[in-house]
Amino acid sequence: MARILVLGAGFAGLWAALGAARKRDEIGARAANTEILVVDRNAYHSIRVRNYEVDLGDVALPLQGLLDPVGVRHVVAEVAAIDPAKREVVVRTGSGAGTLTYDRLVLTTGSELVRPPVPGLAAHGFDVDTFEAAMRLDAHLAALGKQLPPQARSTVAVVGAGFTGIEVAAEMPAKLAHAGISGDHRVILIDPNPVVGATFGAHGRPVIEEALAALGVESRLNVRVSAVGADSITLDSGEIIPAATVVWCGGMRASPLAALLPVKHDALGRIAVDHYMRAEGLDGVFAAGDVATCLIDGEHPTVMSCQFARPMGRFAGHNVVADLFGEPLLPLDIDWYVTVLDLGAWGALYTTGWDREVHTSGAAAKLTKQTINQQRIYPPRDGDRAALLAAAAPTIQTAPPTRK
Ligand SMILES: Cc1cc2nc3c(=O)[nH]c(=O)nc-3n(C[C@H](O)[C@H](O)[C@H](O)COP(=O)(O)OP(=O)(O)OC[C@H]3O[C@@H](n4cnc5c(N)ncnc54)[C@H](O)[C@@H]3O)c2cc1C
Repeated sequence: MARILVLGAGFAGLWAALGAARKRDEIGARAANTEILVVDRNAYHSIRVRNYEVDLGDVALPLQGLLDPVGVRHVVAEVAAIDPAKREVVVRTGSGAGTLTYDRLVLTTGSELVRPPVPGLAAHGFDVDTFEAAMRLDAHLAALGKQLPPQARSTVAVVGAGFTGIEVAAEMPAKLAHAGISGDHRVILIDPNPVVGATFGAHGRPVIEEALAALGVESRLNVRVSAVGADSITLDSGEIIPAATVVWCGGMRASPLAALLPVKHDALGRIAVDHYMRAEGLDGVFAAGDVATCLIDGEHPTVMSCQFARPMGRFAGHNVVADLFGEPLLPLDIDWYVTVLDLGAWGALYTTGWDREVHTSGAAAKLTKQTINQQRIYPPRDGDRAALLAAAAPTIQTAPPTRK
């Protein structure tokens, strides 16, 4: 029996597994014995993009309900090593290490928050990179809500004024209120760049600035963090800000597993794939999502995003089975790019194109963001096999609609 091994069950991995199951089904009897096996350190599919939100009640979806109905096996294990020459993967579970062999591999282990060796960050910092980390932050805020109000209690420093940091800072007033801290709170966005949202360019930045001002979010720009303490953060300007909560949002880097592969890596540690999601220079290996990159429209490299991870996953899943059975592979080309940035109670910012022209902002953009976060990126959840397989078809969605 041939085995397709999918490492990671995030946006790329879940959709690769479902896409592979769909193609296996389509091929029929000839492929029916092919095993599709998913390995993830968690037993759930994380809707990672929602980790900054107030309500985390619906962001960890048990894999059982998504993969069992389509006959995909899954195991909870830490992937420790990949040997593409032997077509073997080393995994670790609570009961020890083991080796899994494969005929085809789909690498979808995503990305991780970059955590520089800032003194005190590991001990005192929080983040929203994973569901576990987001829950830890919420538990911390809830505990603060029960304390008497010293100065540091109600101040949150968010480090990194990029996409994630802005979303965290904009949502923080609502998160603090939810934790029982309201009124005198301070939220401070810190970044070494001279502006907030440096990558948003001249079009989107004024919208972000307006929203943050309306939400009362302060900023400290052109500064780096020198130390993080239990109830303060020190900047290289010499300023010490009393803050019991420091949320680190300092950028993402490809899963460390990518670095173990004997191929070239880009500045973010990603490996190159072609338009069929085949890893360049690695026989029998496909890759998708944040761990991989290609020129998505022939010109622009993919951005680490669920926007690209999901279609990359669907196409990787389709193509890995097609490859195994000598059928034609389908190329992935996406000719649109958007960003929809949550700006908390103020609304959101929806930009289109690689120059990030403002499409809509405020309440209208917020409706689009809510549609994306609560519907568009979710798999069918009623265990309906046909619906799960249909959703994994190797097609390109249109850009998110504007809701009014
Ligand atoms: C707070 C936040 C907000 C974001 N907002 C947006 C947004 O608005 N729009 C957007 O497009 N993108 C957004 N992103 C980025 C988006 O979440 C990622 O680009 C996306 O998750 C990438 O999908 P992926 O499948 O490649 O990786 P992931 O979703 O990270 O999935 C990787 C999977 O691999 C597993 N894994 C990793 N390493 C191992 C290992 N060694 N062993 C076992 N399992 C492993 C993980 O448990 C995980 O399930 C946001 C990210 C964050 C953190």
